[in-house]
Amino acid sequence: EKDKILGTEVVAWSKGVRGDGPMPIVISGPSGVGKGTLISKLMKEFPSTFGFSVSHTTRAPREKEVDGVHYHFTERSKMEKEIMDGKFLESALVHGNLYGTSIEAVEAVTDAGKRCILDIDVQGARSVRSSSLEAIFIFICPPSFEDLEKRLRDRGTETEEQVQKRLRNAKAELDQGKSPGLFDHILVNDVLETCYKNLKKILGLDETADALYQQSMKNHKIPLCYSISKTDQKFLI
Ligand code: 5GP
Repeated sequence: EKDKILGTEVVAWSKGVRGDGPMPIVISGPSGVGKGTLISKLMKEFPSTFGFSVSHTTRAPREKEVDGVHYHFTERSKMEKEIMDGKFLESALVHGNLYGTSIEAVEAVTDAGKRCILDIDVQGARSVRSSSLEAIFIFICPPSFEDLEKRLRDRGTETEEQVQKRLRNAKAELDQGKSPGLFDHILVNDVLETCYKNLKKILGLDETADALYQQSMKNHKIPLCYSISKTDQKFLI
């Protein structure tokens, strides 16, 4: 079943994503590591620079999650059909549910002239890496496995069975995160503020960046990019 789904992804990749906007950012890392918190902070501090790629998932919504904002919550058969129809850039089975990034989700952000942030698992990161979408890949890891376990439990959004499943998968994800050439940057999320500062450093952001970005889009219709990453240089102006 998975192979069938993955097979169709190749078609989706070759279609690519419209536009030559600022390079998307893929953020990966095990469940509970704090990706969501880091992304929320980034979007809050730089609202006109970044836009979130709203994924599709077949998992049930958590209490505070809003359909269309956190995820597009969907039926498995419907999502499988859309994957077959080539509407997804990537998709993967994660902790027993189907998750995926639709081409439309990325285009909604890039068409608005924003830099797209994708919060996806390592399988998804690998798929995007081999797709036509050029991106910068960042892996977030915990200071220790025990720390991750504690965070996942403290979060209290999963049942014990789900926590166990996520922890088992985390072991594999942490190994895969170190695969050579997959991620451009690896950040340890020990102290949140420090990790956030380092994330901004990677992206070349400072306090004035959001205003500069807005100005650049307005004046030149091209994104001002401030990344220090080698793979991201083509957007420097
Ligand atoms: P959660 O259920 O905690 O929201 O997400 C579980 C995992 O699925 C996280 O590691 C998250 O990064 C990943 N994920 C979320 N959206 C996508 C997606 O569109 N594609 C892939 N491959 N993984 C995703």
